[in-house]
Amino acid sequence: MPLTLRIITPERIVLEEQVDQVTATAIDGELSILPGHEPLVTALTMDVLRYVAGKEDEFVAVMGGILEVKNGEVTVLSDAAEIDREIDHLRANEAKERALAEKTQKTDKLDVYVTEMAIGRAMARLKAVEFREQRKRRR
Ligand code: ATP
Repeated sequence: MPLTLRIITPERIVLEEQVDQVTATAIDGELSILPGHEPLVTALTMDVLRYVAGKEDEFVAVMGGILEVKNGEVTVLSDAAEIDREIDHLRANEAKERALAEKTQKTDKLDVYVTEMAIGRAMARLKAVEFREQRKRRR
C-alpha cells in the first residue's frame, strides 16, 4: 500500500501523488517514511525532500514547514515549495548572489536573518536542481 504525498503552499497544491517512500530533513535530523509509519508531526528545515515513486527518485525544494504522517498520508505545509523540474536555476542563482551581497551590507540582526533565509531558500533550490542533474547523468 503506497503513501499519499501532498505538498501544499498558500499558493497551490504543489504535489499530490502516490509514492513508495519519502525522505525529508526535520529540525532534528533526516526522516524516512515508508508505508505503515507511525503518526507523526514534525517541523522541516529548508531543504530538499526526496520521494520515490516507482523506480525514480524525485526532488522537491521545500522551504521549511510542517510535515504530518497519518493514516498512510504524508502532508507537508510550507510557505513555498517547487518540484525540481519547476525550478528556475538562473533565478535561484541570482537570488543567492543578491542575498549574499545584501548580507555584507546589513548590521541589524533581523536584516541579517532575512538575508540568511533568502540564501537558505536559494541553496535548497540549487540543491534540488543539482540532484536532478545527477539523476539524469546516472541514466
Ligand atoms: P526570488 O528572490 O527569486 O523571488 P525568493 O526566495 O524570495 O526568490 P520566495 O518568496 O521563496 O522567493 O517565493 C516566491 C514565489 O516564487 C513562490 O511561488 C516560489 O515557489 C517561487 N519561486 C521562487 N524562486 C523560484 C525559482 N528559482 N524557481 C521557481 N520558482 C521560484
